[in-house]
Amino acid sequence: MAPKVMIVEDEEPLTLLLRYNLEAEGYAVESVGRGDEAEIRLRENVPDLLLLDWMLPGLSGIELCRRLRSRAETRSLPILILTARGEETERIRGLATGADDYVVKPFSVPELMARVRAILRRSRPEIVASLLRAGDMELDRESHRVRRGGRELHLGPTEFRLLEFLMQSPGRVFSREQMLDGVWGRDIYVDERTVDVHVGRLRKAINRGTRQDPIRTVRGVGYAFDEQFGT
Ligand code: CA
Repeated sequence: MAPKVMIVEDEEPLTLLLRYNLEAEGYAVESVGRGDEAEIRLRENVPDLLLLDWMLPGLSGIELCRRLRSRAETRSLPILILTARGEETERIRGLATGADDYVVKPFSVPELMARVRAILRRSRPEIVASLLRAGDMELDRESHRVRRGGRELHLGPTEFRLLEFLMQSPGRVFSREQMLDGVWGRDIYVDERTVDVHVGRLRKAINRGTRQDPIRTVRGVGYAFDEQFGT
C-alpha cells in the first residue's frame, strides 16, 4: 500500500512540485492550502506523514502542529515542517512543538525526499520496506512476488494487494470497509462481500499444501493477518 503524505502548503507551485516528486516515488498524495482546512481533513483521515508549511492562511503551521500533538489520533503523526529562511528562532519553536524535522526553503527536492524516507523508516518501517516477512511467507513489493516456504505463489493483482495490506499491519483487525478503502480505494464502488470472495481466493492460493492459515477471521468484524503466525 502506498504511504500517504499530506501536503499543507499555500504556495501552489511548491505543492505541485512536491506532489509530482512524491507521486513519482510511489506515495499517495493529498494537498490542502489552508491550515484550518487541514485540521478538518486530519480529523477524518490521518496520513502516514505530514508536510506542513509554517506560514499558512487560516491557521499557522505551528498552531496546527500544537493542536495535532494534543490529540491522541495524531499525537505520533510524523510532521516535517517547511519553513522560510530567517525563521531561525521559530524553527526551534517548531521542533519544541513536536515536529519531527524541518527543511528550509528553498530546499533541494532530493534532500527533502531523503528526509521523508528517513522519517517514515523510523515511524512506519513496514511501509517503506520492500520485503514484508512473516513466518514462512515473504512478499516483495518491488518484484510483486510472494513466496511461502521458498515456493513461489501466483496471486492475482487484487489478492496481492490484499495480502500486502494485511501483512503491513500484522495483528491488526480490519473491517471489510477498511479493507475496501485500503485495497480497492474509496472511489470505486465494491460490495463488502467482494472482500470475502477475494480473501477466499487469497487463502486458497497461499494455503495450498499447508494447514496453517495466516489469515484470521474475526467474527462480526473482518480479518487480520495473524501476529503469532510462524512464531
Ligand atoms: Ca506559506
